[in-house]
Amino acid sequence: MNILLLGSGGREHALAWKIAASPLAGRLFCAPGNAGIAKEAEIVALDIADHAGVIAFCREQKVGLVVVGPEGPLCAGIVDDLTAAGIKAFGPSKAAAWLEGSKGFTKDLCRANNIPTAAYERFTAAAPAKAYARARGAPIVVKADGLAAGKGVVVAQSVAEAEAAIDMMFAGGLGEAGAEVVVEEFLTGEEASFFALCDGERAIPLVSAQDHKRVFDGDQGPNTGGMGAYSPAPVMTPELTQRAMDEIVLPTVRAMKVMGAPYKGVLYVGLMITTQGPMLIEYNVRFGDPECQVMMLRLMSDLVPALLACCDGMLGSFDLRWYPDAALTVVMAAKGYPGSYAKGSVIDGLDAAAEIEGVEIFHAGTQAQNGKLVANGGRVLNVCSVGKTVAIAKARAYQAIDLIRWPDGFCRHDIGWRAIERERA
Ligand code: AMP
Repeated sequence: MNILLLGSGGREHALAWKIAASPLAGRLFCAPGNAGIAKEAEIVALDIADHAGVIAFCREQKVGLVVVGPEGPLCAGIVDDLTAAGIKAFGPSKAAAWLEGSKGFTKDLCRANNIPTAAYERFTAAAPAKAYARARGAPIVVKADGLAAGKGVVVAQSVAEAEAAIDMMFAGGLGEAGAEVVVEEFLTGEEASFFALCDGERAIPLVSAQDHKRVFDGDQGPNTGGMGAYSPAPVMTPELTQRAMDEIVLPTVRAMKVMGAPYKGVLYVGLMITTQGPMLIEYNVRFGDPECQVMMLRLMSDLVPALLACCDGMLGSFDLRWYPDAALTVVMAAKGYPGSYAKGSVIDGLDAAAEIEGVEIFHAGTQAQNGKLVANGGRVLNVCSVGKTVAIAKARAYQAIDLIRWPDGFCRHDIGWRAIERERA
């Protein structure tokens, strides 16, 4: 079967690496891809916002499955358009992608189905939103309803900060995404995420993974797309996973089906583990980046049949096997990220780094230029590794990083610290 993968990040490189290993895969294409993905797939210059162009390419190349990496095309309805054209596509429909595309939609779904989540209200104007924030008091959380590239959430430590965030969003600071706002209760606990494959009716949990969102060591500094991740995440015990499935994921899948928008694809479940149990912070409608990278390293089973089972409503008798070893990834980013950064600096030493036992390097923002590898984004490389423990995987990843020569890049040096503390205990 010929397969087309859409996306260009480290998540997509990990997916390409795993798909390319499948005996079911014929030709593997990727658009727009990156320099690392080019080793696994044929890069095609398709504009993924041009659905008709993607469909025409699939027909021409006899593509039997399209795998959509990022949320943008999902929320834009690419799966609906491909399905209508008779092309199988992994990922939710536009209506089902509302679980990520509208925070208010997801909160209302939780309320209607008794799914544990922070108390909240939705607003379309600043004055009532501020009144609600004042009435509840700080800390309080202000969220833009729509997709805001990770910038749509303000955890306000004071009412004044909440009011400023509300004003910023309604003044258009986040564009269309902030035309509606959710104000919600601040939850305390440890954050955890986990992932489930869904086929419209059923859901099966994948292994747990935890990312590090803050840019600096010690989880300090501004939020990023993710500076590293590890799997398993010891916080997600089997009991918690079961509760999250029973109390959050399965009621969501049932509700989406009743609504006529069955959820097919992977569901990324962002949780706060509170004293009352797991509560939903947010859904994403795709694999996490960089969590996907560590999950693909641990997946023993062929990925392609699992993706097909989601599309075909056949997860019922499905079982995935995983390697027991831990996996960890360290993101190397361009200096300045998540603020402004330069593109085009040369990266060297990857071949030697990749030789370290257990190490796999996925590319996020790279480009080949005159025979050299250059940085082409904020997050640039994912140096991944496996090992019997998170601590061993971590040591290998940093050993590889020491061999990479990229003066314009940086990384965190403490990826996995929570898990390693738990391993030591
Ligand atoms: P989100 O984009 O919804 O994942 O939010 C980004 C981050 O904001 C989360 O990973 C949490 O750290 C934090 N956050 C979001 N909602 C809440 C909440 N209700 N209580 C506490 N922290 C939150």
